[in-house]
Amino acid sequence: MVWLLLVMLSCITKHDFSYKLYPIDKKMEVFVIGQPQKNYSWTIEPNVRICNSTEISVFRVNQALRYWEKLGYKFGSVYTDSSPLCMNARFGEIVITLPEAGFGSGQIASTKIYTHVKTNDIVKAKIFMLPKNARKERVLEHEIGHALGWRHYNQKFHMMHSNWFLGGYDSKGLSNN
Ligand SMILES: [Zn+2]
Repeated sequence: MVWLLLVMLSCITKHDFSYKLYPIDKKMEVFVIGQPQKNYSWTIEPNVRICNSTEISVFRVNQALRYWEKLGYKFGSVYTDSSPLCMNARFGEIVITLPEAGFGSGQIASTKIYTHVKTNDIVKAKIFMLPKNARKERVLEHEIGHALGWRHYNQKFHMMHSNWFLGGYDSKGLSNN
């Protein structure tokens, strides 16, 4: 069984996305070329597990999921977990947990997705955020976007803008079709 697990793990690769909180006056790219990019997708409807330590409610997560459901994405069940091992993402789920060591000070949240190297399917995802940042508007929606495979898209007011101050609810190019 151990070798089987190792073979499975060797097929999985990891991608990091970090959400930044730059000062407003910092110069950002103004021109955006093309459409938002998504290189990886789920083939199943992921469950969402919320670690109690993040202090995020099921209600708030459902609200964030609704943003994506309107764009054609589907999710499984949403539940909270008070276990001390909550941070370990299982296959088929998006786990929302506290940041790991090494989290930058200008960072408000980050997401890791794990994909299968051959199929490019997302097999699990981890969203890291502190309770105070989870309460900021759009942060949860933005990170779920990464968990669905979306990259940053630096057009002003766009949901996937890499700078929280310049982002918004614009969902251009994000529908699931
Ligand atoms: Zn981001």
